[in-house]
Amino acid sequence: MDSTRLELHRGDITRFAEHDAATAAIVNAANSSLLGGGGVDGAIHRAGGPSILEECRRLRATTLRAGLPAGDAVATTAGRLPARWVIHTVGPVYSRDDDRSETLASCYRRSLEVARDVGARTVAFPAVSAGVYGWPLRDAARVAVHTVREATGADDPGVDVVTFVLFGDEAFEAFAAELDAH
Ligand code: ADP
Repeated sequence: MDSTRLELHRGDITRFAEHDAATAAIVNAANSSLLGGGGVDGAIHRAGGPSILEECRRLRATTLRAGLPAGDAVATTAGRLPARWVIHTVGPVYSRDDDRSETLASCYRRSLEVARDVGARTVAFPAVSAGVYGWPLRDAARVAVHTVREATGADDPGVDVVTFVLFGDEAFEAFAAELDAH
């Protein structure tokens, strides 16, 4: 089994389309409420339409009454986005005093597990926690690349391609440097 390919793309994740939308998942940097927010979350709900929020509300009324904890992930429809699933994950808020990098790593691991469970072949990630949640970009990139590499080893039956879709030059350069560094 070939291992997962890691790729970089500069741009808006809501406009990112894989060749086969039927097996594509897009990861959302959501918040615990799952009821929408700013940044990439707002962009995904705007572009994907109301069916995503409807499914999030159903989850909140059933299996996720207390919300989705930081570090965990859950899949919904992708609505009108060029993908089949949105995988919502909740990044930790960055703290200088408290090392929450294990929770950030868990976002990537759990998202990949959910992707595998639903049958996705490709997964697009934004830089989770690196926006409103304040994680320094270079460190966010380090955790992201390291965790995805570790979770998609040679004997992993998971997805074919993971693409980090970075909004802006600074994020793109941080992830490119991290991918090149190893
Ligand atoms: P968090 O609350 O987890 O920090 P944000 O959405 O604020 O989430 O930011 C996460 C990252 O996503 C940031 O690097 C931000 O620049 C980026 N981002 C915002 N909008 C988009 C988008 N449409 N496509 C891809 N990345 C985006």
